[in-house]
Amino acid sequence: MTLLDGRTAVITGGARGIGLAIARLMVEHGASVVLGDLDRDAAEAAAGSLGAGVASAAVCDVTSATEVDALLEHAVSRFGRLDIMVNNAGITRDATMRKMTEEDFDLVLAVHLKGTWLGTRAAAGVLRSQGGGGAIVNISSISGKVGMAGQTNYSAAKAGIVGLTKAAAKELAYHGIRVNAVQPGLIRTAMTEALREDIWASKVAEIPLGRAGEPSEVAGAVLFLASDLSSYITGTVTEVTGGRHI
Ligand code: NDP
Repeated sequence: MTLLDGRTAVITGGARGIGLAIARLMVEHGASVVLGDLDRDAAEAAAGSLGAGVASAAVCDVTSATEVDALLEHAVSRFGRLDIMVNNAGITRDATMRKMTEEDFDLVLAVHLKGTWLGTRAAAGVLRSQGGGGAIVNISSISGKVGMAGQTNYSAAKAGIVGLTKAAAKELAYHGIRVNAVQPGLIRTAMTEALREDIWASKVAEIPLGRAGEPSEVAGAVLFLASDLSSYITGTVTEVTGGRHI
C-alpha cells in the first residue's frame, strides 16, 4: 500500500538524520520530495540516494523568510504542487544557563521556533493558493514537554512549536490544512551520537521499551500524520519516545 502517490513533500533539514529518513519513507510511499538544507553537497547527495526523478535538493536556511519562500517555490516549479511540509531542521547548543550565551539562546530559537513558523506560514500560503488541503508536520521534541537541564533554549523552542502547531491548526482548519507535531525522544542520529556514553546509558535507562529509537521510527509517525490515514487529526502532538516521559 502506498499512502502518498502523486504528492509533493518539502522536508527541511532533509540531508541527513530524521529528515532524510522521513524523505526516504515518503518516497517509498509514492511522494516526490524536496530536501532543504544548509549544505548543498549533503542535500544533493541525499536527494541522489533517494532515486532519479523523485527527489530534489535546495539550499535553505530556515531562519530566512526569503530562503524558506524560495524552497517552496522550488518544490512547486520542480514537481508542480505542494501537499506536505515537514519542519524538521534543527540544532542543539546545550549548556546550563550559567554558561549559555545569549547568541546560542537566540540561534536555537531562530532555527527551531522561527524556522518552523516561517515554514508553516509559507506552506500554508502555497496550500491555500492551490485551493486548500494538505498537511504540515512540525518536529518538536520530548524536551519541549518535560524540559531538560542544559537545554533551556531547546526546550523553550520545542515547547513553542507545540503552541505554534495548535494555533496554526485552528487558523488553517477552515482551508482543510492539517497541522500536527511529533515529539521524538532519544533517536540515534548525529545530533545524539555526540552524547557521552554514560549520559546515553542514563537516558536509555529511562525508556520503557529499553532502547533508543531509529530515525525510521520517527518517519513512520510523520508519514501517518502527512497521509489521509490521519484525515480527522489536527493540532495534536504525537510522542515517539519508546514510552519515555509519558
Ligand atoms: P541532525 O543533526 O542529524 O540533522 C539536522 C539537519 O538539519 C542537518 O542536516 C542540518 O544541517 C540541518 N539544519 C540545521 N540548521 C539548519 C538551518 N538553519 N536551516 C536548514 N537546515 C538546518 O538532527 P536530527 O535528524 O537528529 O534532528 C532532526 C529534528 O529532530 C530536529 O528538529 C531535532 O531537534 C529533532 N529531534 C531529534 C531528536 C534526536 O534524538 N535525534 C530527539 C527529538 C527531536 P547541517 O548538517 O548542515 O548542520
